[in-house]
Amino acid sequence: MEDVILTVNAIAATSATEPLVRTTIERRDVGPRDVLIQIRYAGICHSDIHTVRGEWGTVPYPLTVGHEIVGQVTAVGAEATKHAVGDRVGVGCMVNSCRECENCRAGQEQYCLKGNTQTYAGVDRDGTVTQGGYSTHIVVDEDFVLRVPESIPYETAAPLLCAGVTTYSPLAYWNAGPGRKVAVVGMGGLGHMAVKIAAAMGAEVTVLSQTLGKKDDGLAFGAEHYYATKDPVTFEVLRNSFDLIVNTVSVPIDMAAYLGLLRLDGTLVSVGAPPEPLPVPVFALFGNRRSFAGSSIGSIAETQEMLDFCAERGIAPEVEVIGADAVDEAYERVLASDVRYRFVIDVDTLS
Ligand code: NAP
Ligand code: ZN
Ligand code: ZN
Repeated sequence: MEDVILTVNAIAATSATEPLVRTTIERRDVGPRDVLIQIRYAGICHSDIHTVRGEWGTVPYPLTVGHEIVGQVTAVGAEATKHAVGDRVGVGCMVNSCRECENCRAGQEQYCLKGNTQTYAGVDRDGTVTQGGYSTHIVVDEDFVLRVPESIPYETAAPLLCAGVTTYSPLAYWNAGPGRKVAVVGMGGLGHMAVKIAAAMGAEVTVLSQTLGKKDDGLAFGAEHYYATKDPVTFEVLRNSFDLIVNTVSVPIDMAAYLGLLRLDGTLVSVGAPPEPLPVPVFALFGNRRSFAGSSIGSIAETQEMLDFCAERGIAPEVEVIGADAVDEAYERVLASDVRYRFVIDVDTLS
């Protein structure tokens, strides 16, 4: 591959408050172990919104976000062996890691001790700021590119790259399965995948949503029970019930109330990432020897395992496909919990 830096169409945030704009960004030249991907669809994760609005810290504007990326390989470097031109592939939240630290060597590169290279707003190996998937092409090291099984259409595959693996990983780690009672708090992008995956793993799934408005959907996704968290009675009837609670809510929740729902040795794991702290009253942990944990995305191997699991079980996200000019409106709907259940950008609309 000759050294050509690609200029490609994209949408970018220029500040925390202004609408996204159409622009062009540069992709690094395709290195020997790189893959050039023509992006077909990019999912909208709530993390994109936290990021562009500056809720998680300083943002290197202008920034193109998006870390639920699927498309086709259009070129590979001379030494790349894992992917070939024409392959259906995906890229999630990270595009590199140090590969040398204890966690990388353990195959847990999402927990790289030097910090994995995030798909956007990270520092790329050429020193530039990484730019995400709301764009027509991306160049990624082949080790961080996933195979998308044939049976999963591109548009529904996209959200698996973040929402899918971020929920699969804690469900697998804390043994969601037959005989285990799992609650999912918040049924948005991550939450609806948590329900589908936990049910497919064989757990008895309960949804804890603000209202009963999405109850029929939750039961169709595989939940056996559905409760409204706006109703205080929910916290009385479900006290001491769950082995595992997966919290996907993007704002702080009342930790004492939710921890009270755990049975002996139960764990509440937060994947939801509000910018504010989640204060934990320690006495809520003493009863039932409860644990509070966090979990960040999943490893590359686990992401592939999740994609193959979803293909095998026929699990796919529910998506609403939108054009590139509808992203700001989609953000507002996500913020209003009016998402059914993941917005996915048709990247062809950027061409
Ligand atoms: P989302 O689609 O907006 O879903 C969040 C859900 O939380 C909403 O659908 C809603 O569910 C509930 N919720 C929202 N506002 C609430 C409020 N004020 N009170 C109570 N519940 C509320 O977002 P997402 O894309 O799934 O992301 C969820 C969170 O996970 C975000 O903070 C995101 O940054 C984070 N995240 C973390 C990781 C990780 O690696 N740990 C990866 C990806 C995303 P109901 O309508 O059902 O109540
Ligand atoms: Zn995400
Ligand atoms: Zn590392």
